[in-house]
Amino acid sequence: MTLKGKTAVITGSNSGIGLGIARELARAGADVVLNSFTDRAEDHALAAQIAAEFDVAARYIAADMSDGDACRGLIAQAGACDVLVNNAGIQHVAPVDEFPVDSWNAIIAINLSSAFHTTAAALPMMRAAGWGRIVNIASAHGLTASPFKSAYVAAKHGVVGLTKTVALETAEEAITCNAICPGYVLTPLVEAQIPDTMAKYNMSREDVIKKVMLERQPSREFATVEQLGGSTVFFCSDAAAQITGTTLSVDGGWTAL
Ligand code: NAD
Repeated sequence: MTLKGKTAVITGSNSGIGLGIARELARAGADVVLNSFTDRAEDHALAAQIAAEFDVAARYIAADMSDGDACRGLIAQAGACDVLVNNAGIQHVAPVDEFPVDSWNAIIAINLSSAFHTTAAALPMMRAAGWGRIVNIASAHGLTASPFKSAYVAAKHGVVGLTKTVALETAEEAITCNAICPGYVLTPLVEAQIPDTMAKYNMSREDVIKKVMLERQPSREFATVEQLGGSTVFFCSDAAAQITGTTLSVDGGWTAL
């Protein structure tokens, strides 16, 4: 499988899942465009490292995915977008009647509306190129709910709906649109929560992971960013050319329960 000559834009890719996906797409030969809202030397260094490691072109473009114009600007600045991975996302946890309005608006903007804006900007480029792949990083929470995550669950269900609609609108073209629904993934964000939870419950690291974090994940294992990268590369392959408008759960059995 080679993606040589293709350009992949991955939103929210200076850490965690997005960075893992960018690395696997680069390993498959794609030129990659990394993104987040910061514009630090270390962000650009991530792109330089990928370029050197996988012998591809790699750039970092700062753009705030909470701003629709900036989302469209990211795609315009990329100049090409054969593979679009909508990954940027944030979380806030609170009961629905206490949920801060600013947090609701930010989650809907970053986790859902950004995918609308980038897709709208990227589709004309994909049509001109005669080929395209859109991979939306939803969540197990795109298919099922948990209390206190109203905005996140609503946004991720919205991403799954957007995925199906875009798939139907592009069904007769060599463009596919699918969603990946991860369960818990051990990203730096999740890793950082482990010490506090160990202290709070007076538990070992292993117990915090298996009994608290992975309580709903039957495999009792985290999914990895490499596995999510591999799933994304699969969606870009010829084997997946007739797979569109669907969700791929990478959740250790969570949504089978
Ligand atoms: P993360 O915090 O490591 O990554 C989120 C990325 O989004 C970062 O690169 C961050 O800089 C970027 N981002 C945040 N706000 C942004 C903004 N306004 N503009 C541009 N970029 C922005 O978290 P992650 O775990 O890697 O999450 C990545 C995606 O995977 C999210 O959409 C998340 O909902 C989803 N997801 C994560 C898990 C998990 O267990 N980690 C599970 C299911 C789904």
